[in-house]
Amino acid sequence: MEPEIFVDVILPLPLPRLFTYFVPDDMQDNLQKGMRVVVPFGKKKQYSGIVFSVHQNKPAEYETKPLLSIIERTPIINEKQLDFWQWMAEYYQCTLGEVYKAALPSGLKLESETRVYYNPDYIQSNELSEKVEKVLLFLSDKKFCSVGEINDFLKQKSSFSLLQTLLEEGAVFVNERLKEGYKARTENYLRLGEAFQKEEALHEAFNALEKAPRQLQLLMTLLQKTGGAGQAMNGAGISRKAMLEGNNSATSPLNELLKKGILEQYAHEVGRLDLANGPIKEKSIFSPAQAKAFKEIESAFETQNVVLFHGVTSSGKTELYIHLIEKNIEKGKQVLYLLPEIALTTQITTRLKKHFGNKLGIYHSKFSSEERVEVYRDLLENHHYQIVLGVRSSIFLPFTNLGLVIVDEEHEHSFKQFDPAPRYHARDAAIMLAHKHGAKVLLGTATPSVESYYNAKRGKYGLVELFTRFEDIQLPRILVADTREARRKKQMKSHFTPLLLEHVESALSNNKQVILFQNRRGFSPFLECTVCAWVPRCKFCDVSMTYHKKMNQLVCHYCGHTVTTPQTCHACGSPSLSTQGFGTEKIEEEIKNIFPEVRAGRMDLDTTRSKKSYQKIISDFESGNIDVLIGTQMVTKGLDFDNVSVVGILNADNMLNIPDFRAFERGFQMMAQVSGRAGRKNKQGTVVLQTSAPDHPIIGYVVENDYATMYKTQIAERQMYKYPPYYRLMNLILKHKHKPVVDKAAEALANQLRAILGDRVLGPQEPPVGRVQNQYLTRIMLKFEKGHSPSHVKQLVNDAVNNILSRQEWRYVTLQVDVDPL
Ligand code: ADP
Ligand code: ZN
Ligand code: ZN
Repeated sequence: MEPEIFVDVILPLPLPRLFTYFVPDDMQDNLQKGMRVVVPFGKKKQYSGIVFSVHQNKPAEYETKPLLSIIERTPIINEKQLDFWQWMAEYYQCTLGEVYKAALPSGLKLESETRVYYNPDYIQSNELSEKVEKVLLFLSDKKFCSVGEINDFLKQKSSFSLLQTLLEEGAVFVNERLKEGYKARTENYLRLGEAFQKEEALHEAFNALEKAPRQLQLLMTLLQKTGGAGQAMNGAGISRKAMLEGNNSATSPLNELLKKGILEQYAHEVGRLDLANGPIKEKSIFSPAQAKAFKEIESAFETQNVVLFHGVTSSGKTELYIHLIEKNIEKGKQVLYLLPEIALTTQITTRLKKHFGNKLGIYHSKFSSEERVEVYRDLLENHHYQIVLGVRSSIFLPFTNLGLVIVDEEHEHSFKQFDPAPRYHARDAAIMLAHKHGAKVLLGTATPSVESYYNAKRGKYGLVELFTRFEDIQLPRILVADTREARRKKQMKSHFTPLLLEHVESALSNNKQVILFQNRRGFSPFLECTVCAWVPRCKFCDVSMTYHKKMNQLVCHYCGHTVTTPQTCHACGSPSLSTQGFGTEKIEEEIKNIFPEVRAGRMDLDTTRSKKSYQKIISDFESGNIDVLIGTQMVTKGLDFDNVSVVGILNADNMLNIPDFRAFERGFQMMAQVSGRAGRKNKQGTVVLQTSAPDHPIIGYVVENDYATMYKTQIAERQMYKYPPYYRLMNLILKHKHKPVVDKAAEALANQLRAILGDRVLGPQEPPVGRVQNQYLTRIMLKFEKGHSPSHVKQLVNDAVNNILSRQEWRYVTLQVDVDPL
């Protein structure tokens, strides 16, 4: 008897296990790890999952269901990826299903959706509401649709009760279906009809068309453009567009040819990716300092797998990357170039395209799901791309032969994924990924994270430093403007000190450009009643709502809840509501008031929602259509503009006053980075740093550009107070809609953990914002010595969690595990 075959499948679920299915005979051929399969789940659901293993171990405790289908006959996840997924689930304490969900572009994950079908035999017996009638009419038109489409049609979030009515009426039935993921793009193509793909028949067609010169002409065009009669008879085709190009009156002869069957039209699959190649630019010639750094990097890589490249802003790091990439590509190796944010990809893409043309693929969420699938598939099958530029999710692409990973701006916090799980740090995960490929990792930054610098200092990473700017341009001069003093002397104009205004003015009159940095979006962080001090707060979260003037709305920056700006105080009815504090929108308005001639642009989350918006703002600033660019942390990183002579930091204080052990490091990094945008070409630039605490040590380090001392003070504190990199942190965040429930559960969990782990357990403590989206939060922090392996900890935590959260009263408490939180 043939042995029975089973597969363990990864499903997109937060359940910590794999699911075993029986493989029917006709699906056993060449079934492999990493293939996509469709499986039944529960009573009605289906999922597409990934084959994790193929085996003959029949589960003893339950009857297995059969696989429904195999989506394609080649694996879409390779062995290295599966390995990497396992590491990620283990280290970041999540399930393989959660990694799967994060790793694949949505077009490659078929997901169950509920479809509603109109019952053609339905005869109305009861009276129905107007709304129900409307939906019925809509459905009878469409025959079937998804629940989402009904919601859209009704412009409401849920149509649960309405569907209930329709089902009871017998007017519809529902079915779970797998939603179509990726759709190929097609174009109309033309080729010889099948009967004419033979020499004789074709010959006859030519004879028959002697009296129809325009049809004959079209037939000739087809033969020419497909590369000859031989090709055409093999079924080669050309696009209809190409056929009719410059020949507008050819539609009717074409229709004749189609009618006669000499030609036939068909849908031809065309890619969405831009594979055009422009002129390729020669590599630049290194300055002596760059050449030295390059040599040091290469020799460091001889003994180290990870090298930290600490080079001041505008020292020419990106140029060095380009040389390194080229060397890898020449060796036939793939390169992954990671950036922390989409905002940065625009400029780097342009730079890399000039050198690597269509070998460069780009991967991030401003691309459609379809485009992302095509990039994914290119790496899997076609291999046009040898270098991929992307944000954190690109670590999940199916690389086969990675030689180098560049993590640019390695200190950036946006490399960390917060929600949902896996809560991974793309820099750290990339190091593991590279390790699996035997590839090298270059961490580049002007302001290293304390963790990476520590690793470099103690020899775990190589370290290469470059302290001069390209062409020896001086680093910008940093002037500190004391806002307290300016206020006392009543010299402030809106939120500007005289010093900042003076420099903005002189830059503008010299036709130079200005960047203004304010780390808050919106117009003002909150509104306040001037009579009773009432502040509008979010209905769902414990935070005040941010005022957005242009939209005339209050927005919660935690959950996105939006309301129209109230005209009067909800507590005392007074119409006098004043704006408190300031965000980028207000700075934009103030700058326009002070300098009416100035063309101001703004770059923050609100102005960059669409795919093209970054491109537009950045190229408007590059080409000089914007004089002053106002932005949040988006303008601090990596951007390279030639003509910026002044950078203004509007409020250094709110960066330094955050209650977090990393606040000083982070404040230093942001200020040093945004300063680095000034005076990159030609001449030294100027930075005006506004603060009410001019004597703050971090301000001093920024002024002196003294990374080393900043590092020394911070690393000493980390050691003293037991923080990373000396200790490893792990947060357990508990959530529930009733505060007493979550508090009690957390207390019990903390006690249980404390019994095993002692004073490594801190809290529970309510985080600064204690309620988000109507869920109360509390946090337990675990601190481990370096030696503790994550898997050992995982077991301990799992046991405690299972023990506590399985109790009846705490069943609905949710838990998030955040390893190495930021
Ligand atoms: P970083 O990445 O360190 O901020 P960049 O690589 O962006 O620095 O270099 C700063 C500027 O100097 C860029 O405009 C870049 O084109 C230019 N540059 C750097 N190195 C060279 C070189 N070797 N030849 C010509 N231009 C260079
Ligand atoms: Zn009031
Ligand atoms: Zn909210």
